[in-house]
Amino acid sequence: MRIVILGAAESGAGAAVLAQKQGFDTFVSDMGKIKPRYKEMLDAHNIPWEEGHHTEQLILNANEIIKSPGIPDTAPMVQKVKAAGIPIISEIEFAGRYTTSKMICITGSNGKTTTTSLIYHIFKNAGYDVGLAGNIGNSLALQVAEDPHEYYVIELSSFQLDNMYDFRANIAVLLNITPDHLDRYQGSMQLYTDAKMRILQNQTADDAFVYWNEDPIIKKELAKYHIESRMCPFSIVKKEGMIGYIADGEYHIERPTPFNMEQEELSLTGKHNMYNTLAAGITADISGISNDVIRTSLSDFEGVEHRLERVCKVHGVQYINDSKATNVDACWYALESMTTPTVLILGGLDKGNDYTAIRDLVKEKCRALVFLGVDNRKLHDFFDSMGLPTVETHSMPECVKACSELAQEGDTVLLSPCCASFDLFKNMEDRGEQFKALARAL
Ligand code: ADP
Repeated sequence: MRIVILGAAESGAGAAVLAQKQGFDTFVSDMGKIKPRYKEMLDAHNIPWEEGHHTEQLILNANEIIKSPGIPDTAPMVQKVKAAGIPIISEIEFAGRYTTSKMICITGSNGKTTTTSLIYHIFKNAGYDVGLAGNIGNSLALQVAEDPHEYYVIELSSFQLDNMYDFRANIAVLLNITPDHLDRYQGSMQLYTDAKMRILQNQTADDAFVYWNEDPIIKKELAKYHIESRMCPFSIVKKEGMIGYIADGEYHIERPTPFNMEQEELSLTGKHNMYNTLAAGITADISGISNDVIRTSLSDFEGVEHRLERVCKVHGVQYINDSKATNVDACWYALESMTTPTVLILGGLDKGNDYTAIRDLVKEKCRALVFLGVDNRKLHDFFDSMGLPTVETHSMPECVKACSELAQEGDTVLLSPCCASFDLFKNMEDRGEQFKALARAL
């Protein structure tokens, strides 16, 4: 039995180690350059690999292909694999075959990393044997092969879900579905939605499904499915049937173990984080974690870098790094949580954005706009007619300087750019780090 892995980053290298350990004839192929630490990992396990090209004869003789989530279906090699009828699975699907541990899986368009990290934090505080996997932490496959845990908290992107078939989530969390990555789904919102809904497949009556009750797309989708698992909806208003909700400044979980605490004591703030905190608390409650541990963990969680991260206050201006806001919905929530006039930084690589959703909030909250991208034309086309002061910039130093000139004492400068970062930066972390360093140096 031959397994070929396409793409040798975190998930691919981990999948290769697990495949080799399971006794498969294993081969790894990456069109780009493989990072030194993954080469070392592969070499240490005597796994053959190639980089910079795909050798067809070594790939098309596979019984199964494990594809990295970063490789689109339109890649020529993937097309050839499909034409040859070779099954393609994701690393998570593969790893799931070799473990009976409890799987807690989180997906959604926004809030995955925050919620996944918060759940992991609660489980750790409870003393559970837990691993963090998926888009964050070490790959699930590597942990299953070399460092197994009783529980895994797994952040799942739509790309991972695309190639999952038999994998079963014991607790599935679906935060929201809003437009994102449509460039990878032929522009089809339904195809992207279908991928997200795969988190539910294979759940049984012993499993739980935690979801945001008010999401219109989730609501519509749920009507199409026969769901076996225990339904655990949450809402930020009190309503019949909610397992978790916020009412009168209090955070509540109804079942299985009733729990409540003051909203004020929650460490995460902003409406979007109420959803994330409800999803995490319900998940912990279902998993038998005590009220005391849940209470402490929800109040001492430090948040995640690049997500509405308060950086510093300079000359009375608060700088907030939300570099991870790479779509319009994430920026909507960031703006919604602003309590002072805001200088908003927008721009980068646009993934097919429609800015209509933030128009009213921009009008209501923003003092000025600073565009930061190689090509800012789409931003000008949409926002210029609003008549706000607008500055066009093409590097982070230029951008932070412009922000500091536009902001007045008491204002907030918010980097929540709605766009990917690859036009001017290595990635969104690089963008956030440059922003933070320059703001701190003002
Ligand atoms: P993901 O891993 O899904 O990209 P993150 O937790 O990294 O989510 O947050 C991404 C962006 O979305 C951040 O800008 C954050 O402030 C915003 N955000 C976080 N949670 C939510 C939510 N529940 N709904 C909408 N936006 C959110």
